[in-house]
Amino acid sequence: MTEIQPQKIVPQKIVIVGGGTAGWIAAASLARFLPAQRHAITLIESDEIGIVGVGEATIPQIRLLNAALGLDEAAFMRATGATYKLGIEFAGWGRADSRYMHAFGGVGRATGPIAFHHFWLRGQHLGETAPLDAYAPNAQAGWTNRFDKPAAGGTDLPYAFHFDASLFSRHLRSWAEPRGVNRVEGRIVSVERDGESGDVRSVTLADGQVIAGDVFIDCSGFRGLLIEGALGTGYEDWTHWLPCDRALAVPCASATPLTPYTRSTAQGAGWQWRIPLQHRTGNGHVYCSAYTSDDEAARVLLDNLDGKALADPRPIRFATGRRRAFWNHNVVALGLAAGFLEPLESTSIHLVQSAVERVIRYLPQGPIQPADRAAYNAETVFEWERVRDFIILHYHLNARDEPFWRECAAMPVPDSLTEKLDLFRANGRITRFNEELFAEVGWLQVMVGQGLMPQGYHPLADAREPGEVRELLALMRQVIQRQVSAMPDHAAYIARHCAA
Ligand SMILES: Cc1cc2nc3c(=O)[nH]c(=O)nc-3n(C[C@H](O)[C@H](O)[C@H](O)COP(=O)(O)OP(=O)(O)OC[C@H]3O[C@@H](n4cnc5c(N)ncnc54)[C@H](O)[C@@H]3O)c2cc1C
Repeated sequence: MTEIQPQKIVPQKIVIVGGGTAGWIAAASLARFLPAQRHAITLIESDEIGIVGVGEATIPQIRLLNAALGLDEAAFMRATGATYKLGIEFAGWGRADSRYMHAFGGVGRATGPIAFHHFWLRGQHLGETAPLDAYAPNAQAGWTNRFDKPAAGGTDLPYAFHFDASLFSRHLRSWAEPRGVNRVEGRIVSVERDGESGDVRSVTLADGQVIAGDVFIDCSGFRGLLIEGALGTGYEDWTHWLPCDRALAVPCASATPLTPYTRSTAQGAGWQWRIPLQHRTGNGHVYCSAYTSDDEAARVLLDNLDGKALADPRPIRFATGRRRAFWNHNVVALGLAAGFLEPLESTSIHLVQSAVERVIRYLPQGPIQPADRAAYNAETVFEWERVRDFIILHYHLNARDEPFWRECAAMPVPDSLTEKLDLFRANGRITRFNEELFAEVGWLQVMVGQGLMPQGYHPLADAREPGEVRELLALMRQVIQRQVSAMPDHAAYIARHCAA
């Protein structure tokens, strides 16, 4: 009888090109979920080239990554100089003097089959004046610089982080390397493709090292070394909807109070971000070069810092859009190599995170199947386009008077966004399609915050007596005020639990 030989497992070689936020999120996640005997993970990065070093504001889904990796939150915050984030303040986006918060988490409580905001709209028709954010615990905590973790039975404030991008990559690296990720330092000088299939076979470094792989993850940043440089995948340009094409980034000294939210302030031809960290504040000006000069953009940025600038403004150029295919041949592009959406809603790191989850879901056992690739691409396109629409919304719904903003208000927008706007405008309805990232409350806060009030609301909101509606609204506001006023100050909370 012939003895059955145990099958020798040849590990699938996964090569990650790039060690910025995208590369290290991919490396850590793959190391966490793929069995080491079946997958060999190599990450190549070049210290000489470095990383983009921006990308410091996140959305609450980042906590799923931390939880999946089992990162201790206090240690993570200390290591990355992080602060808590409850939402984003938008200053000057509706009218020049307007201000609202897109807060994470809920707004009001539904009291039946219809969303809360229909009652709020009914209240407005009855003469109630409390703004929408009076019903958003995160906004109320944010405006008063408070933060707390949900105690048993207490208010749940969904939160994200602001962190130092370079320290974040380093933190992930220190997690991933001991778990089997092989890091190679060096500059890739050429990419070799298989003559028959056209797949990428290997990359060659400046020192002559050749690194071969079965699957390549292109996290090489804007240059898209494999997805564009080697495969010429092509780019779908979205600059006719999102015309900002440059940014200047500058850190400044911290200021008090330590706000638990990102601020986005509209400027004459773009907007300025402010991201408070424990040890400094990150700032940047995203602008449209057709409407303002680099010098003027730098002046606006530096005039609007709330602490001493700690460096000269660093220029970054981009074209908003996406690769025609996120997965082409045996190359999947993540992060800036996949495309660019401006950081107005802090979505790019999340897009990396969700793409890595998808890569794991579609990872082939043997040869890559075209159907898998097509499904991956279709899901990713849907996700990107819906986020794109949400960002366009901010520009389109403005009531400012500068030429740049008038142009944005007048531009034709994608049909998918027009449908959302029409639905809301008529009767205050918001529909979340499939698994699009932003929930109804996100759209609601931005649309109302920028001055779009629907003509009507759901008829069920009329089923209650006016007095009852007023009472219900007042009660919700009181409960939130009581809970928020018992919370500690954000800076004090950090000092006690996770000071860097
Ligand atoms: C102005 C701006 C502000 C942003 N703000 C936010 C934000 O607030 N929130 C958010 O979620 N996202 C934000 N982003 C996006 C975020 O910065 C990126 O998604 C994130 O940093 C990922 O970058 P990356 O890893 O793709 O690229 P990079 O950080 O550029 O990394 C590229 C890597 O590839 C390596 N590499 C390149 N070429 C070679 C080569 N030839 N050989 C070897 N290695 C090579 C580099 O060394 C580096 O390690 C912002 C982006 C910009 C431009």
